[in-house]
Amino acid sequence: MGYLNNPKTRGIDVDSDKSPKVRKLFEMYVTGEYPLNFFANWCEKKKLLTNAGNKISLSNVQHILQNPFYIGLMRYKGEMFDGTHEPLISKKLFDKCQEVMTKRGKVRPDRKHNFAFLGLMKCASCGCSITAQYAKGNGGIYTYYRCTKKRGACQEKYLGENQLVEQIKNFLQKVSLSSQDTKKILAAFDMEEKQAKEQAKDEVINLKNQLSQVETKLQKLLDAYLDDALTQKEYAAKKDILIFQKVALNEKITDFETKGLSWLEPAREFVKSLNQATNLIQTDNLSELPTFLKNIGSNHILRNREFVFTPKIEYKLVAERSEANQNRLQFPTWCARQGSNL
Ligand SMILES: [Zn+2]
Repeated sequence: MGYLNNPKTRGIDVDSDKSPKVRKLFEMYVTGEYPLNFFANWCEKKKLLTNAGNKISLSNVQHILQNPFYIGLMRYKGEMFDGTHEPLISKKLFDKCQEVMTKRGKVRPDRKHNFAFLGLMKCASCGCSITAQYAKGNGGIYTYYRCTKKRGACQEKYLGENQLVEQIKNFLQKVSLSSQDTKKILAAFDMEEKQAKEQAKDEVINLKNQLSQVETKLQKLLDAYLDDALTQKEYAAKKDILIFQKVALNEKITDFETKGLSWLEPAREFVKSLNQATNLIQTDNLSELPTFLKNIGSNHILRNREFVFTPKIEYKLVAERSEANQNRLQFPTWCARQGSNL
């Protein structure tokens, strides 16, 4: 591809239409920024077909990029010969291409790996899922996210990955807690737990004493009944009261032993996640962001070039408080008048 047989001269001529596109293919591939499977789409978009007029497949692309024909050589019966045709690319470019291909290893069948936020968002306008694409611009390759428009036309605009990451990190900033503060809070929780357990222990001992007193009374009541000191009716009435007391005490004991500290574990997890937000602001590993966003909220959508989602209530409150603090910092005179302590 990129050459045509010339029936008159019986030679091979450069195809002036396809050859620039084939050359471009090599040039793009050596940047290492595109996976092999990107190019099948690219060829389709550039209306680059095989000489037989078929769509170019991934293996076609691979074959082109490895074919020494493009540097003026010819393979014949397993042997390499100098061709008579004009090379399309330099040997340097070709060698670089082979280097990139070896480095990248096998073709990655799942292109989702290249788009960190695929599967995270839905379109605000039509509810379709959001897909990702590569595009060229401003002298580089960038990724953007847009509506798949599977339910027909949709006006929702695309959002570049850089902007998306910026918006996400903006939110993370609002719910982030420094490692130092995290340590302090976790230590305070440990202290709280220790104290609560000690208090609960005292309380449980107290309740168990009461319980054994009730049991002693029950025993005495039974003895009195057996000694004929009580009628059946009197015995039953007094017994009912004691049995009710016993049930209530048992319930209280269970409460103190199990539920008393149930808030602590979720609170710990929450504080740790705020610290994780701090770490995520600094990370270059984008794949960690969608997981975190799914953990702390739901209903992630793309609306008017904005990433929007519904954070869980605790994160919403933290973010709101952080916003309020920021606003206060912007109005020092108001603060001074209110005498508030920054
Ligand atoms: Zn849409």
